[in-house]
Amino acid sequence: MTEIIVQFEVDDRPMTVDEITDEYLAEMLEHTSAQIQRQVERQVGDLTCEEHGGRPRVTVTGMYSTEADQMELNYHVDTCCQMLLMRTVQALNH
Ligand SMILES: [Zn+2]
Repeated sequence: MTEIIVQFEVDDRPMTVDEITDEYLAEMLEHTSAQIQRQVERQVGDLTCEEHGGRPRVTVTGMYSTEADQMELNYHVDTCCQMLLMRTVQALNH
């Protein structure tokens, strides 16, 4: 299984869902987190490096602005090598 980490920044501050006092926002982020997990799982599947047998680790940072009420997603991929990185990025773009 691909390791997928979803984290959030609210107004540029890293926050866990538990730290968010706004109930509506916490619920929204929790929902978004589950959605991102499912989506990345579907896109990346069980992509494995043919050479090293490694799996990609995908970190998604949801950057939420309370003022604009908008969320921007930032993807970061860790892999054993460039080849797997390219394959993972390609999978995420589909
Ligand atoms: Zn590799």
